[in-house]
Amino acid sequence: MIRLLTTAAMLALILGANAETVVDGTAIADETQGKNWLSYGRTYSEQRYSPLTEITAANVGKLGLDWFLEFPDFRSLNASPLVVDGVMYFTGSWSALVAVDLRTRKVLWTYDPKVLEIAGDRARIFWDTNRGSAYWKGKLFVATGDGRLIAVDAKTGTEVWSAQTTDPKLPLYINGAPRAFKDKVLIGNGGTEVGSARGYVTAYDTETGKQAWRFYVVPGNPADGFEEPAMEMAAKTWTGEWWKHGGGGQTWNGLTYDPEFNRFYIGTGNGSPWNRRIRSPDGGDNLFLCSVVALDADTGKYVWHYQTTPGETWDYNSNMDIVLADLTIEGKPVKALMHAPKNGFFYVIDRATGKLISAEKIGKVTWASHVDLATGRPVEIPGSRYEDGEETVYPSAFGVHNWPPMSYNKDTGLVYIPTMEMAGWFSDKGIDAVEWHATDFQMDTAVRFTKGDDLPEKVDASWLLAWDPVKQQKAWEVKLPGVWNPGTLTTAGNLVLQGRTDGKFVAYDAKTGDSLWIFDTGLGISSPPITYEVDGKQFVSLLVGWGGAGTSFGGAFTAQHGWAYREHPRRLLTFALDSKVALPPSPPPRIPQPVFKEDFKVDALLAEQGNDLYIRNCTLCHGGSAISGGYAPDLRESQAPLFMEAFHEIVISGSRQLQGMPQFKELTDKDLVAIQHYLRRQAAAATKAAAE
Ligand code: CA
Repeated sequence: MIRLLTTAAMLALILGANAETVVDGTAIADETQGKNWLSYGRTYSEQRYSPLTEITAANVGKLGLDWFLEFPDFRSLNASPLVVDGVMYFTGSWSALVAVDLRTRKVLWTYDPKVLEIAGDRARIFWDTNRGSAYWKGKLFVATGDGRLIAVDAKTGTEVWSAQTTDPKLPLYINGAPRAFKDKVLIGNGGTEVGSARGYVTAYDTETGKQAWRFYVVPGNPADGFEEPAMEMAAKTWTGEWWKHGGGGQTWNGLTYDPEFNRFYIGTGNGSPWNRRIRSPDGGDNLFLCSVVALDADTGKYVWHYQTTPGETWDYNSNMDIVLADLTIEGKPVKALMHAPKNGFFYVIDRATGKLISAEKIGKVTWASHVDLATGRPVEIPGSRYEDGEETVYPSAFGVHNWPPMSYNKDTGLVYIPTMEMAGWFSDKGIDAVEWHATDFQMDTAVRFTKGDDLPEKVDASWLLAWDPVKQQKAWEVKLPGVWNPGTLTTAGNLVLQGRTDGKFVAYDAKTGDSLWIFDTGLGISSPPITYEVDGKQFVSLLVGWGGAGTSFGGAFTAQHGWAYREHPRRLLTFALDSKVALPPSPPPRIPQPVFKEDFKVDALLAEQGNDLYIRNCTLCHGGSAISGGYAPDLRESQAPLFMEAFHEIVISGSRQLQGMPQFKELTDKDLVAIQHYLRRQAAAATKAAAE
């Protein structure tokens, strides 16, 4: 027995199975190894393509659950895990980092950055969600809701250093994954909708946490001087006193490092506020909003930019993933980048020069007719800027494609994108362009995009789209349930894998789109799957935990699935061929049941005031039109708002702050009464609609 073990151990040593991977730039750039998943999008290219071929389209029917872990403390799971030498690292709720031994299937350690104890008012403006971490030479890097970037020892889970990347007084947050490169780590932030905000990305030294460089996305006040020539150039595309509103451009996702050109491509955010008439009153493109900006990775200096939505005014940010690939276009090899921002176009750009190669619509788009390849600019459809005060355009502020990452398979030549179709209603009637100003830590975009009284409806308007980036045309598509479907994984085994809003995890033939395998996880899925090897065997892992923007302020369109607040287990599931572990059943889906109080007489005026207060303070988590998509309790069925004392305790005194319900100490009891009337109005309308 001893001899046998020794032989096995020696064999493992010879085969290199026990050799520790040095996670550096060479390792992260290596597309050929499939054992590890070393960065957010697997490798620097962000292709989410695995070369592993044990699990294929021919045998995926035999895929089964191998093991699972439950995480009752977590509310939502959105992350792409990392895998390094048989250990998985993933981020859970409130930026917690978890290490799991993939051999013992046990949690090795958990690092809790105590976000809710530190965040204060900032807890109002971010969800508990976090999309992932970065790994570099034995350290992990996680960014927190309250704006810290933290280095953690990968072996022990202890903190090595912590850097505050945002001013704690400002309404900025982080839910994105950092990227590690050349002994540095890059992170951006979010916050465009909740106060005056100016976007930037910052690189830190991986050893010390010292700032290496920072790039601002939009210019500040010219009177203070420009940080670099690119800001002076950008300032020429702004009008009025934009700096008073911050300008926006938050880079909360869409960070891609390119080792071939030693550059970062950053996907930048929309304007703060959304409404250009107020942000930049005499027009202008407003650089570098809604752009892909190439930066020198050593200095953070501007190299080139391509703006997808000049002068944006609909929240059509370009924060979606940027995928690098070598394509052959018209017989010529092109170092390309591919990008599908919210605005509904799919862009192929020559990343050497930043020149646009092609752009086509991948869904319903009515704000622009097409992109003019000669100028590189979209041709807008008159009226779509709600010039007359009100307009309905496609897409909505959720976009045709949002942050759930796409994947690219070099064997099929296709990109696999989760897409949506929703109309966006925009109205700035009655908003005074001179008087308007942002209130920090409150949602206000200087344009109304919800009426606040919509009732639940079933919406199935999403697809898994397989797109040919060279021909710029659809190869195939599969209709999906709901709208807020997660990111994709593709493999050399001719597979595409994707979770769904209805809790199903599905494998498709990457060439044809044929559905080959389906597994019911018992809860809506918001994370992309990953694949890797342990001791030479291929596994697929998926975090199951309903979360993110769709589930929080999405309201009616996510409530339809019945993933009521915290009623279903949050899990890490791992699959392998021929495994047959049974998953304990989850409670069935449950649609929140608003309580109708006959004795409560709704005052129409108070309810209208409450509607406004709700949109500013509550909608981000409790859902549009007071309909919870499952991220936070549905306030139409909750008992707490019915009793003033309890309502005051929770909202104004902040008694549940450490459970994730922030304190709103500037609200008055009169405000709470108004919100109460609004909630009762919404509850009565829902119960009436249900009875009809
Ligand atoms: Ca935005």
